Amino acid sequence: MAELEAVIGLEIHVQLATKTKMFCGCELSFGDEPNVHTCPICLAHPGVLPVPNEKAIRYALQIGAALNCEIAPRSIFHRKNYFYPDSPKAYQISQYDIPICGPGRLGDIRIHRAHLEEDAAKTIHVGDSGRIHGSAASLVDFNRGGTPLVEIVTEPDLRDPAEAANWARLLRETVRQLGVSDVSMEEGSLRVDANISVRPAGSDQLGTKTELKNMNSFRFLQRGMEAEYERQCALVEAGGTVEQETLHFDPASGTLTSLRSKEEAHDYRYFPEPDLVPIVPTEEMLREAREALPELPVARIERYEGIGLAGDVALTLATDPETADYFESATAAADGIEPKVVANWVTGELAATLRQAKVEGGAAASKVSPEQLAALIALVQEKEISHGSGKTVLGIMVAEGGEPAPIVEREGLAQMSDSGELEAIVEKAMADNPDAVEKIREGNNKAIGAIVGAVMRETKGRADGGEVNRLIQERINS
Ligand code: ADP
Ligand code: MG
Ligand code: ZN
Repeated sequence: MAELEAVIGLEIHVQLATKTKMFCGCELSFGDEPNVHTCPICLAHPGVLPVPNEKAIRYALQIGAALNCEIAPRSIFHRKNYFYPDSPKAYQISQYDIPICGPGRLGDIRIHRAHLEEDAAKTIHVGDSGRIHGSAASLVDFNRGGTPLVEIVTEPDLRDPAEAANWARLLRETVRQLGVSDVSMEEGSLRVDANISVRPAGSDQLGTKTELKNMNSFRFLQRGMEAEYERQCALVEAGGTVEQETLHFDPASGTLTSLRSKEEAHDYRYFPEPDLVPIVPTEEMLREAREALPELPVARIERYEGIGLAGDVALTLATDPETADYFESATAAADGIEPKVVANWVTGELAATLRQAKVEGGAAASKVSPEQLAALIALVQEKEISHGSGKTVLGIMVAEGGEPAPIVEREGLAQMSDSGELEAIVEKAMADNPDAVEKIREGNNKAIGAIVGAVMRETKGRADGGEVNRLIQERINS
């Protein structure tokens, strides 16, 4: 049988970080006592009328601009009817056939649409695994009910769970940098549902999909998708067919359970919300949404790869704009040094040193200025000090601050310039390690490490590794 490939489309709910709810003036705040942020509108008392939150509409337009979406000149709200305690109106105000943001893309993945809606209240199941009978009960907290949401829907363009999880991370970072949401998966301000099907690799038909609900971390999201992909493969390979359903993944046991057979759109009896006028963004609103865009991760990654950074380094920097700006200042100060060398110091040695010293807030918040880091890198590049000494100096700079040159002086770390002295140390190290010398002669080049190590110990890391290697080879070959 042909290899089966995964086909994945994501639906991402983003809670907008507005001050108030989507259709009433209740405050948004996470973690407060239940049911303190409520009013007749979000509790659906009879006769109330919703009033849309302008800021939420502006935030949705910003997300649309960041995802390169076509913006609808006129979009409308619909009622999505369903009966559940988390929805006091027994419908959710959402958008249906005319969403505010139409087709777009983020990186290689096409966006199908992004629409505005309101969040449901939060149901909390207490007691015996949440059953309503016996001592168990379900409680409802209406603080969350009516929170503005943007639901972003991708086309089924993702081809494996790891790719899907990484793309979701990129989306999260993009929305985070817009400043329109807290994008916390733990607190539920970013929620990702994954739709998955399988098909023979290379086919252009879509198989029947299942939907995985609401994983609360990217790792669980990926593991859930992997488990579901494997389940569908086993099913299809055994001659069975995939049923359309909604599933829950339990990360602790690694098992998938069916929540319900998936409802169809007509089950929701969508109809236009008669209490709200259409959303018609003004020119000013559209311009503001575009102009408020920072340089987003996708653009930064492209620009950094263009100046020679490796893909993973470019990604690391693009998802941390403060450190990326720091890198750019250091590069500007490090005249004649390749950006990739500076980037490796920023994301490698400096990041590791900051972590070790438990410095919070990254490079930009550290005692090391971009100019000082540039000066340190120059000392290493010009072989004034060895790479190892560079790390030692950096450790001191992180702890105490200060320019690198005086620290080099004070600590006696200047590279050994007296080649006679270094030659003598190399010769002694070779004499002390006859086994290693023999191995190198037999062609085992790894054995050179033992001699280099001995020289470095003797010189306290002040020797240049390249020069030590050269001196050893010279002696072996003579
Ligand atoms: P529904 O009507 O069930 O909500 P949609 O067509 O609106 O389905 O698609 C919802 C999400 O599922 C989208 O992200 C879409 O890309 C994805 N999707 C649709 N069909 C498939 C499929 N066959 N396999 C995987 N993902 C799919
Ligand atoms: Mg859908
Ligand atoms: Zn309210």
